[in-house]
Amino acid sequence: MGSPVKNLHPAEVVERARKAREAQAVWARYSLTQRVRALRGLWAHLMRERGRLAAVIHEETGKPLAEVEAMDVDAAALILRHFTKNAHRLLQDRAVPLPWFLLNKEAHVRYAPRGVIALVTPWNMPFLIPFGDMVPALLAGNAVLLKPSEWTTKTALYLADRMRASGLFPEGLLQVCVGDGAVGAEVLKHADMVLFTGSTATGRKVAAAAAERLIPCVLELGGNHAMIVAADAPLERAAKAAVWGRFANSGQICVGVERCLVHEAVYDAFCARLEAEVKTLRAGSPGTYEQDLGRLIFPGQLAVVERHLADAREKGARVVGGETDAGRTTSSPALVFDAKPGMLVMSEETFGPVLSVMKVARVDEALIIANAGRHGLAASVWTRDLEKGAEWASLLEAGLVSVNDVLIHYAACSLPFGGWKDSGLGRRHGDQGLRMFCEEQSLVIHEWPADTPDLWWFPYGRLKSRALAFLARLG
Ligand code: NDP
Repeated sequence: MGSPVKNLHPAEVVERARKAREAQAVWARYSLTQRVRALRGLWAHLMRERGRLAAVIHEETGKPLAEVEAMDVDAAALILRHFTKNAHRLLQDRAVPLPWFLLNKEAHVRYAPRGVIALVTPWNMPFLIPFGDMVPALLAGNAVLLKPSEWTTKTALYLADRMRASGLFPEGLLQVCVGDGAVGAEVLKHADMVLFTGSTATGRKVAAAAAERLIPCVLELGGNHAMIVAADAPLERAAKAAVWGRFANSGQICVGVERCLVHEAVYDAFCARLEAEVKTLRAGSPGTYEQDLGRLIFPGQLAVVERHLADAREKGARVVGGETDAGRTTSSPALVFDAKPGMLVMSEETFGPVLSVMKVARVDEALIIANAGRHGLAASVWTRDLEKGAEWASLLEAGLVSVNDVLIHYAACSLPFGGWKDSGLGRRHGDQGLRMFCEEQSLVIHEWPADTPDLWWFPYGRLKSRALAFLARLG
């Protein structure tokens, strides 16, 4: 499949990295209060043309307008608020206690910017992910080299343009490097840290490149959300959650529900509700608020959807929906009933409008199936017994788990967000989502006596060794 944009030449990437570095040197001298003010000002600037921002994302991705506003724009506001509100608490120099025998010294932790941060981002959330990760990177005093997906460059360029127009930042603090994976690989050569969001396969390459240069690397990768529906689950909420949790953004959400593992006592009732719910989804008209379904953003994703559905049919599943449109831009919502562990829809991430449903005899069995694969991003359990639910959730091998809820963690941004196993490395959001963009510096100041050597310095001796052992025991 041909690239929709021309790759930036490697020399251009070098030049952008140089400009970013120059801007960072100026930005690092801004006080934290000034940085907070600039980022809040940028948001106010973007919100004065909120409709324009939403339109850029809507046109580029084909997402329903209501979804663009809620998931890309409003969720970004929550992230901005979280980090700007907590920036001083998290980034100011911090005094730390020392063992008492060091009471003549004081210790501090300092948070210094890393320099230039590479944000390599996918096509599914072209504003939320770059903006949400840029905010903490900049608050920490860094510059950003953003490599958006080649399929969603207009949104990234719009953000850079608005940032320039706001006049609140040193010129060149955000640099957008347009192009395919080769440009992404080039960007990594010039950054001091990378935060990558994308597939597990590309994540491995990014980790290898980061290891080569010994730069920190945070990876937010694919998922395969298992939703466990127990016999006592609140079925109406569960069915609506499964449908929204799968078909929002046409299934192109990393934490989206991929597999429902449903207790046999409620399997038929749950399947009937799913079918009824899916029938209510409206294709609608672009640009209106009465549209529930969009299209696939990356056209190549259709091949994955078709392959997974063909495999499920071949292996005996009953597929409802899943028709490809005439222009081959998308597939209608597909429900895969009677799914089995050997099917691709169960073992791999489809990342499209396909929801598989499997009958299980017990929750224990569902937990084993949910944990069987290499992904560990999101998972949920559904039951009216909240205590039992929390216990089952703790047995799920995933970074983001919930009881009777889906797709909530990104907005609950005081929580760390990230995956276990092949779903990632490190976390965004929470406290570490800001501090990870800093080099930590540990400072010790010897206060008194000014001119006397410490006990553990030369010369050594038996008495000294005993005294030191005693002091160490006291802590
Ligand atoms: P990809 O891994 O294909 O691409 C992600 C980004 O990496 C793109 O900008 C891509 O460029 C770039 N890239 C490709 N090769 C390299 C390379 N060798 N070095 C550096 N950069 C490179 O992911 P998709 O864009 O297809 O996104 C879908 C995936 O993202 C799904 O697996 C989804 O689950 C995951 N995701 C994870 C999230 C999380 O927070 N855990 C959130 C959202 C999505 P280009 O596309 O231009 O070729």
